[in-house]
Amino acid sequence: MSEPLDPVRGRRAFFQQTLALAAAVGANASCSRRTHGGAPRAEALPAAEPVKQAARAASGPRVGFAVVGLGKFATEQILPAFAACTRARLVALVSGSPDKAKRIGEQYGIEAKNLYDYTNFDRIRENAAVDVVYVILPNSLHAQYSERAARAGKHVLCEKPMAVTAKECEGMIHASKAAGKKLMIAYRAQFEPHNLRAIEMVRRGDIGRVKTIIADHGRILRPEQPSDSWRAKRALAGGGSLVDIGIYSIQAARYITGEEPLEVSARTFSTPNDARFAEVEETVAFTLAFPSGVLANCTASYGHAEGKRYRVFGEKGYLDLDPATAYEGNVLRASKDGKSAELVEVPQGNQFASQMDHLAECIQSGEEPKTPGEEGLRDVRILEAIYTAAREHRPVRFAADTQRG
Ligand code: NDP
Repeated sequence: MSEPLDPVRGRRAFFQQTLALAAAVGANASCSRRTHGGAPRAEALPAAEPVKQAARAASGPRVGFAVVGLGKFATEQILPAFAACTRARLVALVSGSPDKAKRIGEQYGIEAKNLYDYTNFDRIRENAAVDVVYVILPNSLHAQYSERAARAGKHVLCEKPMAVTAKECEGMIHASKAAGKKLMIAYRAQFEPHNLRAIEMVRRGDIGRVKTIIADHGRILRPEQPSDSWRAKRALAGGGSLVDIGIYSIQAARYITGEEPLEVSARTFSTPNDARFAEVEETVAFTLAFPSGVLANCTASYGHAEGKRYRVFGEKGYLDLDPATAYEGNVLRASKDGKSAELVEVPQGNQFASQMDHLAECIQSGEEPKTPGEEGLRDVRILEAIYTAAREHRPVRFAADTQRG
């Protein structure tokens, strides 16, 4: 599916795009709310206060977004982030719960005619106010709703993981291309200022040639909570800790190196007789080997206390991001001599608003998004290879067509 490998052009383009985004993120941060900690961010507003999206001056017409699935991530992170957007605007909601849609619709000033459910979703085609459908459903529903949105003539922003199989990802890419619409995967860390700064420092050679990366993401899975109940079911989640949070480590290894892995080895473990892990894995450890020789050792677990960090070791020093992929409050430390590490001051920004504004800008300008469907497909192929490597107790090599163009 992807273009032939041209590491030099690919790396330069990646670097230039990263720097441009860092500037855009800075601009976005400057119009965000300022809170007690002094860091700019968008806040979740109290239920009674309607969100005044129009109060923020837009440079031109806003791009209208419909959010599909009003779960924890959508209601706690994404909907509030529209207040910090300068190009994207929330115009419609899709939910299986009419009462919830009505309540949240009132909170965000959404017209009743712009509230949909899953049965009348396809009528969104007739709604000219909706330019983008943002899919925030359980993983196994991403493909179906992304394709239906494309067939309804809408651009798509889809949550990670893009889908539960590479075949589904290919179908999503095909559907968007056939409709002449954009497909972007919501890889928020690629719009987050600390991660962008880390990429910039690595490319500049601040820590010398990169040799190894360690990346770990973990938390306790609690299926008794609604947003975790589907995560314990293979049919809805497609996998366990790997597909849910291990994907952040895969992303980090790929955007830090700017390379695609050649080979992966892996091992999984689930605590015997723990009902939470009857269908999905608890823990996975995997090593990605990159063409430059970088080895990325990664773990994901649903069984240990929360952690979301990575460290990049170079010949001269190292970068430490801990946390690296939090919703806010990420911390970057750098050691340029391998001895003492210093805090790198980075404005917090709003990664959710930045990624939605990025897609809106791409739609307005006709550019391809930084994280298109092909980016999500690469990760899902890696997820599949990790499971194969663990199941068959052997390293798995990637086909040449998975390499970055
Ligand atoms: P939730 O369970 O909280 O939300 C999912 C929503 O999907 C539900 O509230 C429901 O909304 C709707 N839904 C439709 N069909 C089903 C079904 N069969 N079972 C359960 N829910 C259904 O999950 P999250 O918000 O935590 O995750 C949603 C997606 O967002 C996932 O793909 C996840 O990977 C991604 N995510 C991304 C994050 C990031 O940082 N980028 C962080 C967290 C999640 P309704 O009642 O309105 O129909």
